[in-house]
Amino acid sequence: MENENFRPVIARIWEDIKKSCEKSGRTLREVSLMAVSKTQAAERVLAMAESGLSHFGENRVQEAAAKREAVKKVGVWELIGPLQRNKAKLALETFERIQTVDRASLAAELEKQCGKLGIERYPVLMQVNISEDEAKHGAAADEAEALAVRILEGGVLQLEGLMTIGRFTDEELEIRKCFSGLRELRDRLQPRLGLPLRELSMGMSSDYEWAIEEGSTLVRVGSGLFGRRESSK
Ligand SMILES: *Cc1c(COP(=O)(O)O)cnc(C)c1O
Repeated sequence: MENENFRPVIARIWEDIKKSCEKSGRTLREVSLMAVSKTQAAERVLAMAESGLSHFGENRVQEAAAKREAVKKVGVWELIGPLQRNKAKLALETFERIQTVDRASLAAELEKQCGKLGIERYPVLMQVNISEDEAKHGAAADEAEALAVRILEGGVLQLEGLMTIGRFTDEELEIRKCFSGLRELRDRLQPRLGLPLRELSMGMSSDYEWAIEEGSTLVRVGSGLFGRRESSK
């Protein structure tokens, strides 16, 4: 059987991204597209890479580790799901970046495991629960500065930006408010930390166009690329 060809769907999403950039006076170069491959079989992930998109996001550490082995470690992989401390080591070994650092105890564990693995610097994003949704992970917006300071003090984790999940609603205005809220938080934090927070990871299949118009630099698209997931993970 021939491998799936994802080129047409990748091209279509880039077309949408381009339109959103034009609408908001941004350039295409400012935005990256990540394929969220959670629940997808290794052969589909490999086919995605062969179709030209090899930047992957996964939300479970063990699933990602197994899959990455199976696809011969192609591409760049990032963790976009919640991380428990007992999986910190495997996460560091599996991913090029962890987007979901949301508490000091996790930062401390990652630093400790970096020490054991001989990793001097490791890039992370801080996940912020901008929508204050109780079901969601992420630091509260008013705790973000303290956590960022804590991460920087450790001297190991390299804070490259912020990540959020938009509110689960059909209300465009509500969703956009999450994204503009993350951007404004970034703009407030940068001068206080004296550090550029270049990455704003926000936007998924249902809302990436709004996220780009509000300043996203990295959209995380799963079902829009791979088709609907069978499980609800
Ligand atoms: C699953 C997931 C996505 C992708 O969701 P789609 O709606 O399939 O595009 C993006 N970000 C996170 C954190 C996810 O868990």
